[in-house]
Amino acid sequence: MERRSKTILRQKVAMPEAPALERRNGFQEVSLGYTPELAKVEADRCLLCKKPLCVPGCPVAIDIPGFIRQLSDGNLPAAYEILKRSNPLPAVCGRVCPQETQCEVKCVMGRKGEPVAIGRLERFVGDWGVAHGAAEEVEARLTGKKVAIVGSGPAGIACAQDLARAGVAVTIYEALHEVGGVLVYGIPPFRLPRKIVNQEIEGLKRLGVRIERNKVIGKIFTIEQLLHTKGFDAVFIGTGAGLPKFMGIPGEHLNGVMSANEFLTRVNLMHGYEKADTPIGMGDSVIVIGAGNTALDAARTALRMGAKEVTIVYRRTEKESPARLEELRHATEEGIQFCWLTQPVRLHGDVNGSVVAMECLRMELGEPDLSGRRSPRPVTGSEFRIQADTVIYALGTVANPIIARSTPCLKVNQQGYLEIDPQTQMTSIPGVFAGGDIVTGSATVILALGAGRRAAQGILQYLGLSREEERGEGHGLTMPAVSRAG
Ligand SMILES: Cc1cc2nc3c(=O)[nH]c(=O)nc-3n(C[C@H](O)[C@H](O)[C@H](O)COP(=O)(O)OP(=O)(O)OC[C@H]3O[C@@H](n4cnc5c(N)ncnc54)[C@H](O)[C@@H]3O)c2cc1C
Ligand code: SF4
Repeated sequence: MERRSKTILRQKVAMPEAPALERRNGFQEVSLGYTPELAKVEADRCLLCKKPLCVPGCPVAIDIPGFIRQLSDGNLPAAYEILKRSNPLPAVCGRVCPQETQCEVKCVMGRKGEPVAIGRLERFVGDWGVAHGAAEEVEARLTGKKVAIVGSGPAGIACAQDLARAGVAVTIYEALHEVGGVLVYGIPPFRLPRKIVNQEIEGLKRLGVRIERNKVIGKIFTIEQLLHTKGFDAVFIGTGAGLPKFMGIPGEHLNGVMSANEFLTRVNLMHGYEKADTPIGMGDSVIVIGAGNTALDAARTALRMGAKEVTIVYRRTEKESPARLEELRHATEEGIQFCWLTQPVRLHGDVNGSVVAMECLRMELGEPDLSGRRSPRPVTGSEFRIQADTVIYALGTVANPIIARSTPCLKVNQQGYLEIDPQTQMTSIPGVFAGGDIVTGSATVILALGAGRRAAQGILQYLGLSREEERGEGHGLTMPAVSRAG
């Protein structure tokens, strides 16, 4: 371990935040980011370990002590360059990655205090890069090869970026009218401001990437047509897993019952928060079922849309909640209510067919199940009702079947996710690659980015453009292949 300061602070430097009572009324960003002075103090907490435990905790193996050292020395261009080697979107990941279960949980500083705030430092450097337009200054020699990318989420963006840098002509086909996948239609702007995503997309355009919006592949062209009629040399599928799950309990057909994806898309993409063309009548009482990131995003968005009472209902306890700790804290501060150990069993409606209440059962935790988590079981005779004007389902999503249905020779597994070779990301069709949630199921931004980059390398090899001397240099090619989020 190489230590640079005599006194090392045990706790993370706090990040400034908008006050809870102010921020719950608007969509401005909640976490405000470090100032240069705060970033320096936090960077100096890092011991710059020779064998850093944090690095294997990062799904794309960022050189964490390397970028922190440069940050501490005031060399932000070098710090940004190190981050970009492994992570195409540091300003995004610094905001949304679950660092507390990845790099930070491994940090040696966590043994006697709090780990280094790696995510906050990544955000600081990523924001510097975005603000200084440092993203895309590479001019690549054109190779004459063309690749189509289906879906503009993190997987598609990462794949497009690496291919364009290697001189491939890239066209992204996106079903929606905005680019960015979950980064724009799912994660609300109070967690991830749109200007951050938009500036990254501008970087892609500067690299020469063409973007075709409102184009649903599988409807306007099949994958085979992209290859054989449109003349693409390869295709990457990064269509995510956006099909919501419901529970199948009575009353799900009632007005006022919707999925978190529908709700968030209406607010985030169709500007429901500006009371524009798609106003959303939430009523006073909103219940969100589930306790992951999506559930918390939906609940906090409902609060900002004017709901008086927002309750999260989850059949396990806070300990089992898959949401990021910071998001749970923010939601609690803003006044979201939590009904832990609660299982919805029926939705009740009024004479107009609108939902008015949810009937629930209390649960208790029993023996651990196969995943090692204690499984919830109902408490007999514990039925109770909660009033509800709107019920939002945030129980996860599954693969959208459009692509697989329109391309029957594409191999999918039993859950409908695309089967790939984990080294190259190639599907069962030669020249067709895939990555991100459409392969792993709903996972994380960083895993989708990693998959997109591996696929770009697979495509370059397939096209005969991968040169030995490029491998491992400047493209983060040493990233481990990850097939499914934990
Ligand atoms: C509300 C919410 C909050 C989340 N919060 C976090 C978080 O805090 N941290 C984190 O790490 N992860 C989070 N995630 C998960 C993360 O966003 C996803 O794992 C990640 O975005 C997956 O990237 P992707 O590129 O595979 O797919 P997506 O981001 O889903 O992008 C797929 C894109 O493909 C497009 N598409 C689909 N079908 C077609 C078609 N047929 N033709 C053309 N285009 C098509 C879609 O419109 C979409 O734009 C969250 C997810 C949600 C829903
Ligand atoms: S972040 Fe933690 S584990 Fe990583 S180099 Fe710094 S002190 Fe060591």
